[in-house]
This record gives sequence, structure tokens and C-alpha cells, in this order.
Amino acid sequence: MSHRILLLGAPGAGKGTQSKKLAAEYGIEHVTTGDALRANKDMETEYGTPRSFMDAGELVPDPVVNEIVNAALKEADGFVLDGYPRNLSQAEYLSEITDLDAVIFLDVSEEELVGRLTGRRMDPETGEIYHVEFNWPEDEEIQERLVQREDDKEDTVRERLRVYRENTEPVIEHFRERGDLIEVDGEAAPDTVFERLTDVIEG
Ligand code: AMP
Repeated sequence: MSHRILLLGAPGAGKGTQSKKLAAEYGIEHVTTGDALRANKDMETEYGTPRSFMDAGELVPDPVVNEIVNAALKEADGFVLDGYPRNLSQAEYLSEITDLDAVIFLDVSEEELVGRLTGRRMDPETGEIYHVEFNWPEDEEIQERLVQREDDKEDTVRERLRVYRENTEPVIEHFRERGDLIEVDGEAAPDTVFERLTDVIEG
């Protein structure tokens, strides 16, 4: 069975949701640069704080994210990697520090991505993700404390998608050319997508 899984896809493709479920299913670590950076947004680095890049929808400099991933993978036996690599130089670094058992691309159309991202809300207490249209909590107390990620506002979403096309699509192409890429249709309900993922991982 594959225990070193790389999940690729655009912002909003469902990598976070699915990675969490995969980590629980297989008892492996969920390694996500996005969450790690959000938890350290105001950390001073020689390039400035992660916040200055993230709130604008830009990539945080490679040395900062490479170090996060290196430290996390050293401690993990099995893992699902989410949100990294986002450019070819990160992909090159990753290939130097680990081998992968499965590289999966979660495919979602761009129209769908914008709606998913701008409607996304997060519960700051539990980290749970909701959506104004597709997954609104019934509990009023939860409703009231939900927040929108700064970078889920429409202008920043457009910029993140531009950065994705420019920097991350070549990474997907790179794995496709190597013949390593498993493509999974990500445009379905989360449980359906999860089944598709476990099928390809166990298949
Ligand atoms: P995410 O939660 O994966 O959408 O990431 C949110 C933001 O964190 C991105 O828009 C980037 O600013 C930053 N970030 C996350 N992962 C990376 C990465 N691998 N390389 C550079 N920046 C990243």
C-alpha cells in the first residue's frame, strides 16, 4: 500500500479536506505548508513574514517552505503532502529528500474553483471548513464565529489561480511527463472524491 502520497491540485480543489481524511484513514501524517505557514504568519524570516506573501496570494520564498517540509518529512513515516511543491524548484528539492509512492492530481475546473474558494469559511476554534452554499453549519453559535481567510477574497483568489497556472501547472506537467501522475476527477461531493482516491491508492 502507498504511504507516501503527494496530492496536487489548484487552490480549492479539495486537497486539504481529502488529505485530512486520507491521513486519518491510513494513519499517516498530513503535511501541509499552507496550515504550517498560517500558524506562523508573523514569524520573522530573512525574506519578511509569511503574511506579506500570503495575504497577497503570492508564494512564500522557497527556502522557508522547503525547510518546513524537510523538518516535517523527517519525522513522518508515511505522509500525505498537501500544498507543496508549488513550483519546479520545490519539486526538485522534494525529489532530493524523499521518494513518493503515489502522485495524484485532483482535477477541478476553474469556474468551480472560484465559487468554492470565495464561499469558503473557517471555524477558528476547530479548523473545520464550511461553505456558504454547499456546507453551512446548522449550529448558530458556529455560524457566528466563522471567518473568511484573507486570501479567499475574490481579488486574491484570482491572483492565487494565476500563480497556480504560472508556477504549479508546470509541476503537474513534470509528473505527467514522467508517467507518474494519477488523475482523479475532483468535481463531486467530498465522500465520492474520497472513494475515488482510496480506489487509486489501493488499486
Ligand atoms: P494554501 O492553504 O495551500 O492555499 O496556501 C495558502 C498560502 O500559503 C499560499 O497562497 C502561499 O502564499 C502560501 N504557501 C503555501 N504552500 C506554499 C508553498 N509550497 N510554496 C510557497 N508558498 C506556499
